[in-house]
Amino acid sequence: MTAAPDSPLATLWCPAPNRDPRRNGRAPDLLLLHYTGMDSADAALDWLTREDSKVSCHYLVDEDGNITQMVREGERAWHAGQSLWAGETDINSCAIGIEIHNPGHDIDYHDFPEAQMRAVEALCRDILTRHTIRPDRVLAHSDVAPGRKRDPGEKFDWAQLARAGIGLWVTPAPVGGDAGLGPGDEGEAVTKLQQDLAAYGYGVEITSTYGRGLENVVEAFQRHFRPERVDGRADASTRDTLARLLAASQAAAVA
Ligand SMILES: [Zn+2]
Repeated sequence: MTAAPDSPLATLWCPAPNRDPRRNGRAPDLLLLHYTGMDSADAALDWLTREDSKVSCHYLVDEDGNITQMVREGERAWHAGQSLWAGETDINSCAIGIEIHNPGHDIDYHDFPEAQMRAVEALCRDILTRHTIRPDRVLAHSDVAPGRKRDPGEKFDWAQLARAGIGLWVTPAPVGGDAGLGPGDEGEAVTKLQQDLAAYGYGVEITSTYGRGLENVVEAFQRHFRPERVDGRADASTRDTLARLLAASQAAAVA
């Protein structure tokens, strides 16, 4: 076992060939969480360190909580793909990526074991001691690539992470019986929803029409912030949770 170059928590250093310099010397200021979506953590480690995969990541956390580092934090790893957050498209240049092993929605999506969650928590905290990353920039892959990615998904315990001081979280408003806004709807309420999502950082166009793109973004928002029901419909609970989250992020930005 060779100690990794950045995190003392990583017990294995397994360099990945797919990496390059962060564009314009960008300092990392976003933490992006993924699930591997593969059968095993070993298969994921093999894939993430193979040149022909064209992907890589900074860290991999297996289900027992073992942490492997593959790319130095100062370098650009290839995990975000086509993505967008707060107007920025080269997410790999500003992000540190953590792959959390879970077979995912297509294979066998299950709860993240406690030992794994504790390791993710410790690793995030460790990374935050080296880099200035605002709570609202601790994100899911699905947040920056809605419609294309679902990881780490609605079973990931963002509330637990927030209690450990990582990421921004507000208690979701209770799910009610209202249908809310959905595909095909138009008007001021849709405009307001689009404005709020865009203000938080999501890639949303202000069109006043509830199209497929907005449905995908609402679904991504729910997976992260209102996981009880992920259906792409902006019910009162979703909109209320978003409004309070936005207020919390703006308050944090001013503080
Ligand atoms: Zn991912």
